Amino acid sequence: MKTPLQTPARLYSDERLRELADGSWLKPFRQQHPLAITLPAAAANVHLRGAIDMHVHADPCMLATRSQDFTDVAITAAHAGMRAVVRKDHFQSTVGEAYAVQRHIDDLVARGALPHRIEVYGGIPVGSLDIVPMQRALRFSTFKMIWLNSVSGERLVEGGRLRPEAERIIALAAEHRRGLNVGAPNHSAQQYQGIGDYEGLAPVVEKIKKSGALAVLDHPLSSLTIDEIANLVGDGVYAGLFCHPSLPSVAKGAVADPLRTLELVQRVGAGQCIIASDVGMVLEPTQLEAMRLMVRLLLVLGFGAEEIDAMLKDNPARLLGLESSRPAEGRRPMTFAEVAR
Ligand SMILES: [Zn+2]
Repeated sequence: MKTPLQTPARLYSDERLRELADGSWLKPFRQQHPLAITLPAAAANVHLRGAIDMHVHADPCMLATRSQDFTDVAITAAHAGMRAVVRKDHFQSTVGEAYAVQRHIDDLVARGALPHRIEVYGGIPVGSLDIVPMQRALRFSTFKMIWLNSVSGERLVEGGRLRPEAERIIALAAEHRRGLNVGAPNHSAQQYQGIGDYEGLAPVVEKIKKSGALAVLDHPLSSLTIDEIANLVGDGVYAGLFCHPSLPSVAKGAVADPLRTLELVQRVGAGQCIIASDVGMVLEPTQLEAMRLMVRLLLVLGFGAEEIDAMLKDNPARLLGLESSRPAEGRRPMTFAEVAR
């Protein structure tokens, strides 16, 4: 007999769901957050200069059709003055692709066809818990992220404990300063039968903290309560504030309460959060528009420039091991040898 899935934590009360559905939440929200009506459209642009998006989806994507490919994302983000983009794919390494896109960007900059350089990075999804592709990719500086619990990946925990293969991957991330993206177990629901998202994440996060690796929880607002997220973040583990579920999405979830985003950042602090787009399906905004909407939302919710820049620039730079290098703007293009380092 199949073990039933654990009932997910209740994220919304029935009353709040009704308010969100019938629009009655809007008037009090606008009264409390008048910038929802008056914020200048360009207010987000200054924050995008120097911003890092550590969770980009784009073609060639092995999961779903995307509205842009990664080259288009990188060029558009470079025009907006962004510092870096990192593409995630659930089923393939994006390290080699990032290498090639970086070469193209640098060529455009060298020829004067692009006004700003942008750093282009990739990562490797953990599907089969095979560490060998990660060991082999270590010589590339475009390898920046390891994506744990990618769609349909093997589970990381067994009997409440981390599997040894997963421990070794976390140790590699700690030793070689690669960021970890910790997806919710519901990405691999078949493998995690009977294990809830919090239960499946807690041993992983505990090990990450002990090992000294740095990690971001993949849109935890979609499956965890604020209390649960607050228990997991800290000591180098950030909460990912991604477009979904901070904003409603026809592609992923039509219900999104902006007050949960407000509550989370107030609870754990901007120093523990990272903003990223995590969009690109055809019914979603483009990568840059998603980043713009996220910044506008945080401005409307009342967060200040320093808090927003911490979530957009400082924290992701630390996650990716970029904090000691200077931002891309004004830098000369990298040589072939430097890209291949
Ligand atoms: Zn994603």
